[in-house]
Amino acid sequence: MSPKELATQLTPMLRHYLEVKAEHPDALLFYRMGDFYELFFDDARTAAPVLEVTLTARHKGRESEVPMCGVPHHALGAYLGKALEAGFKVAICDQMEDPSEAKGLVRREVTRVVTPGTLSEPGLLDGKEDNLLASVAWNNGPGASGAPGVGAGAFLDVSTGRFFVRRWASPQEGIDDLRVLAPREVLYRSDPEGSGDRSAGSLPAELAAWIAHEGACASPLGAERWPEGRRAADLLGRQLGVATLRGFGLEEREPAVEAAAAALTYARETQKSELDHVRELSVRGSEDRLVLDPTTLANLEVFRALKDGGHKGTLAGVLDRTATAPGGRALRDWLRRPLREPAAIARRHRAVRALVEGSALRDRLRERLARIGDLERLLSRAVLGSLSPREAAALRDSLEELPGLFADLEGSPSELLAELAAADPAAPLAAELARVLAPEPGPSLAEGGAIAEGIDPELDQARSLARDSKRHILAREAEERQATGIGSLKIRYNKVFGYYLEVTKANAHLVPGHYIRRQTLVGAERYVTPEIKELEERILSAEERQLALEAEHFRRLVAEVVRSGPQLSRAAAAVGSLDALAAFAEVAARRRYVEPIMAPAGSPIVIVEGRHPVVEAAAAEPFVPNDAALDPESSQIVVLTGPNMGGKSTYLRQVALIVLMAQAGSFVPAERAEIGVVDRIFTRVGASDDLARGESTFMVEMIETANILHHATPRSLVILDEVGRGTATFDGLSLAWAIVEFLHEERRGMTLFATHYHELTELASLLPRVVNRTMAVKEWQDRIVFLRRVVPGSADKSYGIQVARLAGLPPRVLERAEEVLGNLEAQEY
Ligand code: ATP
Repeated sequence: MSPKELATQLTPMLRHYLEVKAEHPDALLFYRMGDFYELFFDDARTAAPVLEVTLTARHKGRESEVPMCGVPHHALGAYLGKALEAGFKVAICDQMEDPSEAKGLVRREVTRVVTPGTLSEPGLLDGKEDNLLASVAWNNGPGASGAPGVGAGAFLDVSTGRFFVRRWASPQEGIDDLRVLAPREVLYRSDPEGSGDRSAGSLPAELAAWIAHEGACASPLGAERWPEGRRAADLLGRQLGVATLRGFGLEEREPAVEAAAAALTYARETQKSELDHVRELSVRGSEDRLVLDPTTLANLEVFRALKDGGHKGTLAGVLDRTATAPGGRALRDWLRRPLREPAAIARRHRAVRALVEGSALRDRLRERLARIGDLERLLSRAVLGSLSPREAAALRDSLEELPGLFADLEGSPSELLAELAAADPAAPLAAELARVLAPEPGPSLAEGGAIAEGIDPELDQARSLARDSKRHILAREAEERQATGIGSLKIRYNKVFGYYLEVTKANAHLVPGHYIRRQTLVGAERYVTPEIKELEERILSAEERQLALEAEHFRRLVAEVVRSGPQLSRAAAAVGSLDALAAFAEVAARRRYVEPIMAPAGSPIVIVEGRHPVVEAAAAEPFVPNDAALDPESSQIVVLTGPNMGGKSTYLRQVALIVLMAQAGSFVPAERAEIGVVDRIFTRVGASDDLARGESTFMVEMIETANILHHATPRSLVILDEVGRGTATFDGLSLAWAIVEFLHEERRGMTLFATHYHELTELASLLPRVVNRTMAVKEWQDRIVFLRRVVPGSADKSYGIQVARLAGLPPRVLERAEEVLGNLEAQEY
């Protein structure tokens, strides 16, 4: 049957369904019918296996049979989760009027489109992670090179209102940012009409390819949904309440403006909301930050463990002792973008020190923080119109904690703590929430009781009538039992009949004549009487009145919350920062970390008895601390040799992590640390295959090394672990040699280079700023004992065969290997 023929055969409801579906072709349409959301046609076929529900049909067996499946409305959240997880978007079409009062077809409208990047359901969000929607724009036109940033990405978190842009000079910068920030969804303008290539669009090919194939959900938008030029600037200006975007550091014609306007438009369309909580936009530069590229974040296992991608065994895993979701997000942001300005870093350190030293204060603070909900996300729920009474109560309880929390910090020796504690605790809003809300409101308005007693006489009256009438029902029931002599008679309620009397079949002969029979069941008869109906009227109208008045009070309360948005956002930010600082202090106190001394860029890095924060936390054996000394003037490059399993990789990462932690504002695992701040940390660690991208191990190794050699500055820290290992010995050695020379002569960044090429240790006698270090071992009867100590000097061998023995290789293989090694060495010298 053609769609046209089909349409003529369909019921008006299904015709309406198809109209709505045509407006949302790229989303699954959840169409509300009674207590269910139903899906029809192809959506039903696609979604049934994903949602794990049964595929059935409407008008089954007839020519007009329509495939369908459905999910109960009260379980919407769980099914949304499944659909999004599988990469779908969902358009939610709700009933806009009470079906019992509707004349003809019930009016339905799409109230929201749920997409991975615009989620705000608490149940579907990870509290401690941002949920970012990204939008990417590129300036391909003439004069592009003169613009500030040829490309840009805008990042919006609908669930918190956070909104920022990043300018990019090359597609690679864009890819790096997208990898680091990990948005859940990426928007871009699809190709101008007719080219048919959805993926290439308006972006440089490599960026477009990355977006189309990696991680996030890619959402190409047609030109009609993509605001350009003046229109984009106006739209953004209106949202931010300004006449010119200059105040936000943006030029009208730059790609960042387009990207930001597109993100905003898309979020507004999907949420059907003006997004009143999005009132700030920042241009995030890297000038004042320690830049960590995605490879470095991965190699140092800051957020994800290399072996399983999990949280366990990561730096964030060790440091995250935050009690609130905004605190968790702040801590992650600090680790992702540590500071570079020694004074700003020292400010955080002083705040941590105040909380380490004041342990009673810290405990009290953390106790209070644990009682504070996610203020940012509660605000955004209010703005999006989805705040529930229970969530409003959580907001109230959280706000009530703030004055105490802030008062505790009064007179703190740390100016940062004092500054954070000066945030406005939104007291008038807290008072209003306390006055209007019931002490423990339920999850929805429908069940009644969300609003406090005593604030509205009319509401109190309706409520007491509703309640009294229930007592009347019970009294009536007793009366009827008495009058009829039927002890088991019950007065019940359902949606179809309202209140009715139920009598078992066995007692039906006792029913008086004025009872009107309404329904016969297998074991019982159901009746009504005029008195029952009158009572029902009184109850229902009182209940209705109560719910209507409560809804009105609640609506006003929510509007009040939205009006206090700016204070709430600032209070939430202060809570997040306090929580992150308290977490740093908690870890520092428990793990005996020290406050690092910060020095300007270009100063040495001196670490006494440093430890690896993650290995130390996980290890069963005691961790052996080690010193490190890097000095741009004298020991710029450390060549580290030593046996396999000696601890070289651990040492390299430990130095990088200590620098990263210090610049993030944390104390560090060491006895003493003096850190000359760095502008970037580069790492090339281990052999990571990227076969999925069609690049061999060695190719990846060289790409990453090239990146380092192009971008390192004299203020960078460079970690190279076994570079050159992935190819033939002489090629690898030659490359490694040349790389060290280049870093020494040209880039001059402080470098730790671990290697098995012992030949490289000769460089120390040729280049003035290269020094040799080695991992100490003890040899004993052909076996080795790892001391895990870094000492001056170099190893003359790798002890590979001894380590292989530890690993249990067959003795014959080991003996033969000794022989071959002997021959090789004899030839070499
Ligand atoms: P390879 O050359 O084979 O890659 P490596 O020298 O890089 O080895 P690592 O991988 O750093 O050695 O460390 C080997 C093991 O020793 C790890 O399991 C690590 O947990 C442990 N280890 C490393 N350093 C220390 C230390 N300072 N104290 C205690 N244990 C350590």
